[in-house]
Amino acid sequence: MRTIQKGNSPPYHLEQRRLKGTPTHPEKAWQHFSHKEEVRNSLKQQQYCLCAYCEIRLEELGEHIEHVMPKSKYPEKTFDYSNLVLSCLDSAILNQYPDDERSCGHSVGRQHSF
Ligand SMILES: [Zn+2]
Repeated sequence: MRTIQKGNSPPYHLEQRRLKGTPTHPEKAWQHFSHKEEVRNSLKQQQYCLCAYCEIRLEELGEHIEHVMPKSKYPEKTFDYSNLVLSCLDSAILNQYPDDERSCGHSVGRQHSF
């Protein structure tokens, strides 16, 4: 298991957004945040293009930005770089599963089996 080094500084736009304060509607705010690509690239570099949970190579299954502490419960962490990791499966696939079948951004028991 590799430890993720959050050594690099937060991507510029993410940090700018975080400094604006805690969003009232974290889900919406994140959806409308238009610099995810920058965040993705930065996370990819520090994770060596591997899933933060299972270390599968991200290009195999797609990827999504995962909030380690869920933004619904911790809105102040929505734009906090230290709360973000990349994990496998893109959000379109992930959204096909009901919430209770997901765990840490993975569909429980079914991940990687398709
Ligand atoms: Zn994974």
